[in-house]
Amino acid sequence: MKDVIVIGGGVAGLIAARACARVGLSVTVLEATGVPGGALGSHEVAGLTLDSGAESFAVRRGAVAEFIADLGLSDAVVAPNPAGAWLQLPDDRVPNGSVSVPLPKAGVLGIPGSPLADDVRRVIGWSGAWRAYADRLMPVLTIGREHSLGELVRRRMGRRVLERLVEPVTAGVYSASADDLEIDVVAPGLNSALTVTGSLSGAVLSLRSGAPAGSNVAGLRGGMSRLVDALVADLDHFGAQIVTDAPVTALQRSGTDDAPAWTVTRTPDAPTTEAALDARFVIIATPGAQALGLVAGLSPAHAALAELDWPQPTAIELATIVIDAPELDAHPRGTGVLVAAATPGVTAKALTHVTAKWAWLAEAAGPGRHVIRLSYGRAGRDNPTAGLNDDELLALSLADARTILGVDLDATAVRGFARTVWGDALSPATVGAPERVSLVREVVAATPGLELTGAWLAGTGLASVIPDAVAAAIRTRHEALGI
Ligand SMILES: Cc1cc2nc3c(=O)[nH]c(=O)nc-3n(C[C@H](O)[C@H](O)[C@H](O)COP(=O)(O)OP(=O)(O)OC[C@H]3O[C@@H](n4cnc5c(N)ncnc54)[C@H](O)[C@@H]3O)c2cc1C
Repeated sequence: MKDVIVIGGGVAGLIAARACARVGLSVTVLEATGVPGGALGSHEVAGLTLDSGAESFAVRRGAVAEFIADLGLSDAVVAPNPAGAWLQLPDDRVPNGSVSVPLPKAGVLGIPGSPLADDVRRVIGWSGAWRAYADRLMPVLTIGREHSLGELVRRRMGRRVLERLVEPVTAGVYSASADDLEIDVVAPGLNSALTVTGSLSGAVLSLRSGAPAGSNVAGLRGGMSRLVDALVADLDHFGAQIVTDAPVTALQRSGTDDAPAWTVTRTPDAPTTEAALDARFVIIATPGAQALGLVAGLSPAHAALAELDWPQPTAIELATIVIDAPELDAHPRGTGVLVAAATPGVTAKALTHVTAKWAWLAEAAGPGRHVIRLSYGRAGRDNPTAGLNDDELLALSLADARTILGVDLDATAVRGFARTVWGDALSPATVGAPERVSLVREVVAATPGLELTGAWLAGTGLASVIPDAVAAAIRTRHEALGI
């Protein structure tokens, strides 16, 4: 019998496994796919090793940097190009036209701190800016907390701010509409700042003044997937086992509350390990839908968790293009572009100019060669790329890139192309998420020997995922060893 089985070998599972293995517990990680890392994936395109999922981390609170230091990777931490992102919006003056403008700097999730600032007016026009300014004159009516980000922005600053500034950002970061996002999750502190300052723009300025100077995000030279390589090497060093192609299909409790034990069943498709494995402790680090499915058989209380009002998962598809295009050396749209939903002539919801964002990658690619990554799929809509073959998706993404970047990209200059689908995430940021998550945590806390972790509970992004996974492992270590 193992001490700990970790189900799911994404970054949360690997981190939890490492924290258990380094104190001497015997640990096996069971990962459904052929490679560990989950959304921290990598792929090779035209000879370049690129991140296929996450490509940066939020520097807030220092949690990720501290963890990276613990893995010995501090020297590889790099800041992105400070040029910042742009917006692609419907052009009010040209029927069926679109326009590119820099994303205003002094905002939170696109909400402006200074509605009359020049860079804000360029996006929403004078009438939109005056409507947004009216926020300063309105009393704060809600006693208690606001929940829906979209509703709050629409009411206080109007439709132009919502559609042209906030929605493009929330679609890019959370693949969700601002209406569906829970303020306390996506903008912690905004609710109390609103009460204190008496206006939404005042609240934004107050949050910005408390934020450290410099970029909000950082990356790793060589790509974020280096984190996964380092975790895998550490797990090997501590004697932990990672089994890939091992989707877990069932979880059964076989011990008592005082001496918990579990039987974990995986699809027996590879002869390297048995189909059923026993362990004293289990940490589930899969996405939400799979985790809820695995615990549902444990008790009626566990089964009821799956019946909560979870949002529909949103599938997003990334199209990565490596292209020889010296015209892009000038970084015409900064580090990338967020696209407003109703923008004519553009299907993508975002474009990252990866070689503009990360100097180490531009160096690796060489002069005139560029990496651009387009992202498709908005919450509540069918993904426009779902039925496309590779040639069709390449043609669509090149056409989008031409419009967004304002450069005539030649299809014969494409040196590599890859598509990646990320399909089954329950967005942890939607309205009601804090209540759903605390119910899950309550039921799991009353289940000796079981822990759940991962982005669906902790929140999107490494800055949330890492501390949560470490905390889950610490609780397991405490139960196992009393330390
Ligand atoms: C395209 C994209 C870009 C992103 N960009 C950023 C960014 O720039 N910065 C940032 O901080 N965050 C970013 N994120 C978010 C970040 O990557 C995630 O929050 C984080 O990686 C989630 O880790 P996780 O371990 O909780 O989940 P996952 O990475 O989803 O890992 C879960 C693992 O469980 C496995 N699994 C599922 N079912 C089973 C089963 N039954 N049995 C065994 N294993 C199973 C899966 O195969 C997967 O490997 C991005 C995410 C995506 C998709």
